[in-house]
Amino acid sequence: MSRIAYVNGRYVPHADASVHIEDRGYQFADGVYEVVAVTGGRLVDELPHLDRLDRSLRELRIAAPMSRAALRTVLREVVRRNRVANGIVYLQVTRGAAPRDHAFPKSGLFPALVVTARSQAPKRSQQDDGVAVITVPDIRWKRCDIKSVSLLPNVLAKQTAVEAGAYEAWQIAADGCVTEGSATNAWIVSGDRALVTRPADESTLDGITRRTVIDIAARNGYRLEERGFTLEEAKRAAECFLTSTTSWVMPVTSIDGARIGDGAPGPLSRALLSHYADYVASLA
Ligand code: PMP
Repeated sequence: MSRIAYVNGRYVPHADASVHIEDRGYQFADGVYEVVAVTGGRLVDELPHLDRLDRSLRELRIAAPMSRAALRTVLREVVRRNRVANGIVYLQVTRGAAPRDHAFPKSGLFPALVVTARSQAPKRSQQDDGVAVITVPDIRWKRCDIKSVSLLPNVLAKQTAVEAGAYEAWQIAADGCVTEGSATNAWIVSGDRALVTRPADESTLDGITRRTVIDIAARNGYRLEERGFTLEEAKRAAECFLTSTTSWVMPVTSIDGARIGDGAPGPLSRALLSHYADYVASLA
Protein backbone atom coordinates (compact mmCIF):
# COMPACT_ATOMS: atom_id res chain seq x y z
CA MET A 1 0.00 0.00 0.00
CA SER A 2 1.49 3.38 -0.94
CA ARG A 3 1.76 6.01 1.76
CA ILE A 4 -0.12 9.29 1.52
CA ALA A 5 1.02 12.66 2.89
CA TYR A 6 -0.91 15.86 3.36
CA VAL A 7 1.00 18.86 1.97
CA ASN A 8 -0.47 22.36 1.89
CA GLY A 9 -4.04 21.43 1.09
CA ARG A 10 -3.53 18.23 -0.88
CA TYR A 11 -3.27 14.53 -0.17
CA VAL A 12 -0.40 13.26 -2.30
CA PRO A 13 1.59 10.03 -2.65
CA HIS A 14 4.33 10.18 -0.02
CA ALA A 15 7.03 9.58 -2.63
CA ASP A 16 5.90 12.62 -4.66
CA ALA A 17 5.30 14.96 -1.70
CA SER A 18 7.49 18.06 -1.73
CA VAL A 19 7.71 21.61 -0.42
CA HIS A 20 9.19 24.76 -1.90
CA ILE A 21 13.00 25.14 -1.80
CA GLU A 22 12.56 28.50 -0.09
CA ASP A 23 10.29 27.15 2.60
CA ARG A 24 11.63 28.78 5.76
CA GLY A 25 11.51 25.43 7.53
CA TYR A 26 14.07 24.13 5.05
CA GLN A 27 16.28 27.23 5.11
CA PHE A 28 16.05 28.40 8.74
CA ALA A 29 14.40 25.53 10.65
CA ASP A 30 11.66 28.16 11.07
CA GLY A 31 8.89 25.82 12.11
CA VAL A 32 7.40 23.57 14.75
CA TYR A 33 6.07 20.03 14.91
CA GLU A 34 4.18 17.47 16.93
CA VAL A 35 4.19 13.68 17.02
CA VAL A 36 0.98 12.07 18.23
CA ALA A 37 0.71 8.35 18.96
CA VAL A 38 -2.07 6.38 17.28
CA THR A 39 -3.48 3.39 19.11
CA GLY A 40 -6.39 1.33 17.82
CA GLY A 41 -6.85 4.09 15.24
CA ARG A 42 -7.28 6.74 17.99
CA LEU A 43 -4.98 9.68 18.62
CA VAL A 44 -3.46 9.56 22.10
CA ASP A 45 -3.68 12.87 24.02
CA GLU A 46 -4.56 14.71 20.80
CA LEU A 47 -5.82 17.86 22.51
CA PRO A 48 -2.77 18.43 24.75
CA HIS A 49 -0.59 17.95 21.66
CA LEU A 50 -2.66 20.55 19.76
CA ASP A 51 -2.50 22.92 22.74
CA ARG A 52 1.29 22.56 22.78
CA LEU A 53 1.36 23.15 19.01
CA ASP A 54 -0.64 26.36 19.45
CA ARG A 55 1.77 27.49 22.16
CA SER A 56 4.86 26.76 20.02
CA LEU A 57 3.30 28.67 17.11
CA ARG A 58 2.41 31.61 19.35
CA GLU A 59 5.90 31.79 20.86
CA LEU A 60 7.42 31.96 17.36
CA ARG A 61 4.68 34.21 15.93
CA ILE A 62 3.81 31.70 13.22
CA ALA A 63 0.18 31.82 12.10
CA ALA A 64 -1.96 28.71 12.52
CA PRO A 65 -2.29 27.04 9.10
CA MET A 66 -5.98 26.24 9.68
CA SER A 67 -8.57 25.97 12.42
CA ARG A 68 -8.19 23.30 15.08
CA ALA A 69 -11.28 21.50 13.78
CA ALA A 70 -9.86 21.40 10.25
CA LEU A 71 -6.49 20.23 11.51
CA ARG A 72 -8.11 17.41 13.49
CA THR A 73 -9.92 16.33 10.31
CA VAL A 74 -6.63 16.30 8.35
CA LEU A 75 -4.85 14.28 11.08
CA ARG A 76 -7.64 11.67 11.02
CA GLU A 77 -7.71 11.58 7.24
CA VAL A 78 -3.95 10.98 7.00
CA VAL A 79 -4.20 8.23 9.62
CA ARG A 80 -7.12 6.68 7.73
CA ARG A 81 -5.55 6.92 4.28
CA ASN A 82 -2.38 5.26 5.58
CA ARG A 83 -4.40 2.62 7.45
CA VAL A 84 -2.48 3.25 10.65
CA ALA A 85 -4.02 1.36 13.57
CA ASN A 86 -0.96 1.63 15.78
CA GLY A 87 1.79 4.10 15.03
CA ILE A 88 2.28 7.83 14.84
CA VAL A 89 1.00 10.87 13.03
CA TYR A 90 3.54 13.65 12.44
CA LEU A 91 2.60 17.25 11.75
CA GLN A 92 4.87 20.14 10.90
CA VAL A 93 4.03 23.80 10.47
CA THR A 94 6.59 26.21 9.04
CA ARG A 95 6.36 29.95 8.63
CA GLY A 96 6.02 29.42 4.88
CA ALA A 97 7.99 30.02 1.67
CA ALA A 98 9.52 33.40 0.83
CA PRO A 99 12.71 34.82 -0.75
CA ARG A 100 15.51 34.07 1.70
CA ASP A 101 15.85 36.77 4.34
CA HIS A 102 16.25 36.20 8.07
CA ALA A 103 13.50 38.68 9.01
CA PHE A 104 9.89 37.64 8.51
CA PRO A 105 8.53 38.75 5.13
CA LYS A 106 6.06 41.63 5.50
CA SER A 107 3.33 40.04 3.40
CA GLY A 108 2.37 37.16 1.17
CA LEU A 109 3.41 34.50 3.63
CA PHE A 110 1.24 31.44 4.30
CA PRO A 111 2.22 28.89 6.93
CA ALA A 112 2.98 25.51 5.40
CA LEU A 113 1.47 22.33 6.83
CA VAL A 114 2.73 18.81 6.27
CA VAL A 115 1.15 15.74 7.89
CA THR A 116 2.39 12.17 7.58
CA ALA A 117 1.53 8.96 9.40
CA ARG A 118 3.12 5.57 9.72
CA SER A 119 2.56 2.29 11.49
CA GLN A 120 4.96 1.55 14.30
CA ALA A 121 5.03 -1.35 16.74
CA PRO A 122 5.12 -0.66 20.48
CA LYS A 123 8.59 -1.06 22.02
CA ARG A 124 7.60 -3.92 24.31
CA SER A 125 10.89 -5.80 24.53
CA GLN A 126 12.88 -2.67 25.36
CA GLN A 127 10.24 -1.72 27.93
CA ASP A 128 10.53 -5.20 29.46
CA ASP A 129 14.33 -5.30 29.50
CA GLY A 130 15.19 -1.63 30.06
CA VAL A 131 17.56 0.42 27.95
CA ALA A 132 21.00 1.99 28.16
CA VAL A 133 21.49 5.75 28.22
CA ILE A 134 24.67 7.71 27.58
CA THR A 135 25.22 11.40 28.30
CA VAL A 136 26.27 14.41 26.25
CA PRO A 137 26.64 18.10 27.10
CA ASP A 138 23.44 20.06 26.49
CA ILE A 139 24.47 22.47 23.71
CA ARG A 140 20.95 23.65 22.79
CA TRP A 141 19.40 27.11 22.79
CA LYS A 142 17.51 28.61 25.73
CA ARG A 143 13.98 27.93 24.46
CA CYS A 144 13.78 24.16 24.52
CA ASP A 145 10.15 24.51 25.65
CA ILE A 146 9.26 25.33 22.03
CA LYS A 147 8.86 22.22 19.90
CA SER A 148 10.91 23.61 17.05
CA VAL A 149 12.11 21.57 14.07
CA SER A 150 15.57 22.99 14.82
CA LEU A 151 16.83 19.68 16.18
CA LEU A 152 20.51 19.54 15.24
CA PRO A 153 21.86 19.15 18.81
CA ASN A 154 19.22 16.47 19.44
CA VAL A 155 20.17 14.71 16.20
CA LEU A 156 23.86 14.70 17.17
CA ALA A 157 23.02 13.54 20.70
CA LYS A 158 20.93 10.65 19.42
CA GLN A 159 23.60 9.68 16.90
CA THR A 160 26.15 9.55 19.72
CA ALA A 161 23.78 7.24 21.60
CA VAL A 162 23.28 4.98 18.60
CA GLU A 163 27.03 4.75 17.96
CA ALA A 164 27.50 3.78 21.62
CA GLY A 165 24.83 1.09 21.32
CA ALA A 166 22.52 3.06 23.65
CA TYR A 167 18.83 3.91 23.30
CA GLU A 168 19.01 7.55 24.28
CA ALA A 169 21.40 10.37 25.20
CA TRP A 170 20.64 12.40 28.33
CA GLN A 171 21.78 15.98 27.95
CA ILE A 172 23.71 17.52 30.83
CA ALA A 173 23.52 21.24 31.57
CA ALA A 174 26.51 23.31 32.66
CA ASP A 175 25.41 22.95 36.32
CA GLY A 176 25.65 19.14 36.10
CA CYS A 177 21.88 18.61 35.99
CA VAL A 178 20.18 16.31 33.50
CA THR A 179 17.87 18.41 31.32
CA GLU A 180 16.26 15.73 29.13
CA GLY A 181 16.98 13.16 26.44
CA SER A 182 17.32 13.91 22.73
CA ALA A 183 13.60 13.15 22.31
CA THR A 184 12.42 12.06 25.75
CA ASN A 185 12.00 13.43 29.29
CA ALA A 186 14.23 12.08 32.06
CA TRP A 187 13.12 10.73 35.43
CA ILE A 188 14.67 9.14 38.49
CA VAL A 189 13.31 7.43 41.57
CA SER A 190 15.08 8.83 44.62
CA GLY A 191 16.27 6.79 47.60
CA ASP A 192 13.08 7.68 49.49
CA ARG A 193 11.00 6.47 46.53
CA ALA A 194 9.85 9.82 45.16
CA LEU A 195 9.47 10.24 41.41
CA VAL A 196 11.73 13.07 40.35
CA THR A 197 11.60 14.97 37.07
CA ARG A 198 12.79 18.40 36.08
CA PRO A 199 10.17 21.19 36.23
CA ALA A 200 8.78 22.25 32.87
CA ASP A 201 10.74 25.43 32.24
CA GLU A 202 12.50 26.79 29.17
CA SER A 203 15.31 24.22 29.45
CA THR A 204 13.15 21.26 28.42
CA LEU A 205 10.12 20.27 26.42
CA ASP A 206 7.04 19.79 28.58
CA GLY A 207 6.35 16.25 27.34
CA ILE A 208 2.73 15.22 26.98
CA THR A 209 3.68 11.75 28.24
CA ARG A 210 5.47 13.42 31.15
CA ARG A 211 2.23 15.18 32.05
CA THR A 212 0.16 12.02 31.74
CA VAL A 213 2.64 10.18 33.98
CA ILE A 214 2.42 13.01 36.52
CA ASP A 215 -1.39 12.57 36.51
CA ILE A 216 -1.04 8.80 36.87
CA ALA A 217 1.37 9.30 39.77
CA ALA A 218 -1.06 11.68 41.51
CA ARG A 219 -4.02 9.34 41.00
CA ASN A 220 -2.10 6.37 42.39
CA GLY A 221 -0.58 8.07 45.40
CA TYR A 222 3.03 8.17 44.21
CA ARG A 223 5.12 11.00 45.58
CA LEU A 224 6.36 13.43 42.92
CA GLU A 225 9.12 16.01 43.11
CA GLU A 226 9.47 18.39 40.18
CA ARG A 227 13.06 19.49 40.59
CA GLY A 228 16.39 19.28 38.85
CA PHE A 229 18.68 16.32 39.51
CA THR A 230 22.34 15.87 38.69
CA LEU A 231 23.93 13.10 36.67
CA GLU A 232 25.58 11.89 39.89
CA GLU A 233 22.19 11.63 41.61
CA ALA A 234 20.78 9.77 38.61
CA LYS A 235 23.63 7.24 38.69
CA ARG A 236 22.97 6.59 42.39
CA ALA A 237 19.16 6.54 41.98
CA ALA A 238 17.07 3.51 42.87
CA GLU A 239 15.56 3.62 39.38
CA CYS A 240 15.70 5.73 36.24
CA PHE A 241 13.31 5.90 33.34
CA LEU A 242 12.38 8.12 30.41
CA THR A 243 9.06 9.10 28.87
CA SER A 244 7.84 10.05 25.41
CA THR A 245 4.98 9.57 22.98
CA THR A 246 6.66 6.56 21.35
CA SER A 247 8.66 5.20 24.32
CA TRP A 248 5.81 5.46 26.88
CA VAL A 249 7.56 4.75 30.19
CA MET A 250 10.93 3.21 29.33
CA PRO A 251 13.06 1.85 32.19
CA VAL A 252 16.72 2.92 32.05
CA THR A 253 19.07 0.25 33.38
CA SER A 254 22.44 1.93 32.80
CA ILE A 255 23.87 5.40 32.37
CA ASP A 256 27.29 5.77 30.74
CA GLY A 257 27.83 2.06 31.39
CA ALA A 258 27.11 2.35 35.13
CA ARG A 259 24.35 0.02 36.29
CA ILE A 260 21.24 1.59 37.82
CA GLY A 261 19.95 -0.31 40.86
CA ASP A 262 20.40 -4.00 40.21
CA GLY A 263 20.52 -3.46 36.45
CA ALA A 264 16.92 -4.51 35.78
CA PRO A 265 13.78 -2.34 35.39
CA GLY A 266 12.71 -1.27 38.87
CA PRO A 267 9.28 -1.80 40.45
CA LEU A 268 8.10 1.80 40.20
CA SER A 269 9.15 2.11 36.54
CA ARG A 270 7.33 -1.13 35.78
CA ALA A 271 4.22 -0.04 37.68
CA LEU A 272 4.09 3.30 35.85
CA LEU A 273 4.60 1.57 32.50
CA SER A 274 1.74 -0.75 33.29
CA HIS A 275 -0.53 2.16 34.30
CA TYR A 276 0.46 4.02 31.14
CA ALA A 277 -0.28 0.95 28.97
CA ASP A 278 -3.70 0.67 30.66
CA TYR A 279 -4.31 4.36 29.98
CA VAL A 280 -3.47 3.98 26.28
CA ALA A 281 -5.58 0.81 26.03
CA SER A 282 -8.52 2.63 27.63
CA LEU A 283 -8.52 5.12 24.71
CA ALA A 284 -8.71 2.49 21.96
N1 PMP B 1 11.88 16.15 25.05
C1 PMP B 1 12.18 16.31 23.74
C2 PMP B 1 13.36 17.13 23.37
C3 PMP B 1 11.38 15.70 22.75
O1 PMP B 1 11.67 15.87 21.45
C4 PMP B 1 10.28 14.90 23.14
C5 PMP B 1 9.45 14.20 22.11
N2 PMP B 1 8.60 15.05 21.45
C6 PMP B 1 10.01 14.76 24.51
C7 PMP B 1 10.83 15.40 25.44
C8 PMP B 1 8.84 13.96 24.99
O2 PMP B 1 7.64 14.61 24.69
P1 PMP B 1 6.28 13.83 24.44
O3 PMP B 1 6.00 13.06 25.68
O4 PMP B 1 5.27 14.90 24.19
O5 PMP B 1 6.49 12.93 23.27
